[in-house]
Amino acid sequence: MSDKILVVEDEIALRDTLAYNLTKQGYDVETADDGQRAIEIARKTKPDLIILDIMLPILDGFEVCRVIRQEMNIPIIMLTAKDEEIDRVIGLEMGADDYVTKPFSMRELMARVKAHLRRVRLIRAEIDTEAQIPKEIINFGDLTIDMTRREAYKNNQPLNLKPKEFDLLLFLVRHKGQMLSRELILERVWGWDFSGGSRTVDVHIRWLREKIEDDPAQPRRILTVRGSGYRFEG
Ligand code: CA
Repeated sequence: MSDKILVVEDEIALRDTLAYNLTKQGYDVETADDGQRAIEIARKTKPDLIILDIMLPILDGFEVCRVIRQEMNIPIIMLTAKDEEIDRVIGLEMGADDYVTKPFSMRELMARVKAHLRRVRLIRAEIDTEAQIPKEIINFGDLTIDMTRREAYKNNQPLNLKPKEFDLLLFLVRHKGQMLSRELILERVWGWDFSGGSRTVDVHIRWLREKIEDDPAQPRRILTVRGSGYRFEG
């Protein structure tokens, strides 16, 4: 089944161009030209992703985003035209997943649509897998991971991992023995729109090693795969 995308834009020419390009990529496309209508369609058809303009009649994009966020967990890409809009979107006070600035390249927007849909599919698949393996405590020698408390222990001492460190550790653990590239780790642990680059992965791996390795300089749990990424050995 094709992914369903709701395009909310009051400029007819842009709305048609978006609909045309998305349809060409194989998506099912629905359109709305004002904020009120956008919310009605979203409630009725439950799209997989929304492309949402900010300046709209009746309700603006910020308001639409806020309402939809309370009811549905679907990726929202905002179309922004002005700097002050970008500031508000980046503040993420209303929970948009991403934004592009007008005028934008259609190719760039299509790439982001694809990436967000892929991310959602992966997360859903992971939740399904988790449901099949209800493990709350995982042990690797003197390292214990408590999924419920979102905490890890070494020799029974809590490691006080930061949320991202815990997410990273969990991602490594779930893919034990597999080579994981920095790009994959970045995409899955931080999300596509994170702009910090893959160096962030290296920094967090270093912090994690300082907490879970006996000798962080000679890691035995998180190995570096030269030029490629990392592998968790357990
Ligand atoms: Ca507009």
